[in-house]
Amino acid sequence: MSPDSGEHVLVHAPYGRDAAMICDFLAKAGMTATACATVEQIRAQLDDNTGAVLISDEALNQASIGSLAAVLHTQPPWSDLPLIVTTSGGEATAASRRRLELLTPLGNFSLLERPLRTATLISAVQTALRARRRQYQIRDHIAEREHLVQELKRSNDELTKFAHVVSHDLQAPVRMVKSFSELLARRYRGQIDQTADEFIATIQNGASAMQALIRTLLAYATVGQGPLTRGPVALQSVVDAVITTLQPMIEELDASVSYANLPIVYGDQVLLQQLLQNLIGNALKYAGPARPQVNVNASHSATEWIVSVADNGPGIAAEYQEVIFLPLRRLHSRQISGTGMGLAICRKIAELHGGRIWVNSQPGAGSTFYFTLPDLERDQKSEALDTPAQQPAK
Ligand code: ADP
Repeated sequence: MSPDSGEHVLVHAPYGRDAAMICDFLAKAGMTATACATVEQIRAQLDDNTGAVLISDEALNQASIGSLAAVLHTQPPWSDLPLIVTTSGGEATAASRRRLELLTPLGNFSLLERPLRTATLISAVQTALRARRRQYQIRDHIAEREHLVQELKRSNDELTKFAHVVSHDLQAPVRMVKSFSELLARRYRGQIDQTADEFIATIQNGASAMQALIRTLLAYATVGQGPLTRGPVALQSVVDAVITTLQPMIEELDASVSYANLPIVYGDQVLLQQLLQNLIGNALKYAGPARPQVNVNASHSATEWIVSVADNGPGIAAEYQEVIFLPLRRLHSRQISGTGMGLAICRKIAELHGGRIWVNSQPGAGSTFYFTLPDLERDQKSEALDTPAQQPAK
């Protein structure tokens, strides 16, 4: 033990002289020890550097053991302070037996019987201190991780604020480009020449695309910025709402969107609707020449709900199945409108709920997107099991 580390042993014995003698033995072995005449003094001296507490059981009574238990109870989660108790050997008295019974459950407790050889005492304290140092390592590890988490959160918040400000400030100039190009088109279309008309149309399309992009970047930056409004969410009603919103597209494509086994989950209704709307919307949008057939389903694993959205579209090659969840990644050409932010937003929403999102797909054989939602509350689960069987929407 290095005395500079601040590591020290607290010694509580019935007589001050005994405590001083023990402190002396420990000091000779290179340890720092402090005599405490009462449990109150132990409480006052106890800090993160207390390596062990050495107590003669005769120094305690029922009340002071209660106080000691209260002191040990205030330890931080990483701490399991070694408590070494010395007791007289031979026939134990009823009082001593009772004291030991009360001390045993206090945690990291070890018993030494007197008469005690100095070497035995020192070795027991050294062993306790070694064990204590492992706890310090865990403490430092926890503190380091806590620091990293805070740092990550800070830089994430900063990035989100930055994205918010940038996309917000970009809106005004893009709006201006868009309205002036519209003005230009209205006033001069057909008056210059065909190439000029094409240039104006290209500016208009570019401005519209940029506006859509900024809008979804803003949506990405702001999603889940405040605390989630969590509560029981019936996924069936969420999918019904999505179907209503997408009805014109469903009709235009003569698509069918069906669902089954949808539970009540615990989450943020608005965000879960956005997530499902993006997935179902994509299933319709990227269906290809086939008549789109989309099925939303759910199953339960040991700890979470797994919700799936399956389509009969062209599928996604294995090498793109991860990148599509990154912002601004698109596999389709501009002929199909989009900004490449939808699945990134889906991933953010799933992760904000403590879940994951992924896709299983084979080119030519459709895609199934999955996301998980942790089964946070058992009672929510039983509510879900009581939900009546559901009918296909179409
Ligand atoms: P967006 O639809 O705006 O392009 P997304 O992030 O929602 O952005 O999707 C990223 C890309 O993943 C899409 O551009 C498309 O190429 C591909 N994709 C998404 N969903 C499907 C799907 N159901 N079937 C085939 N490809 C898909």
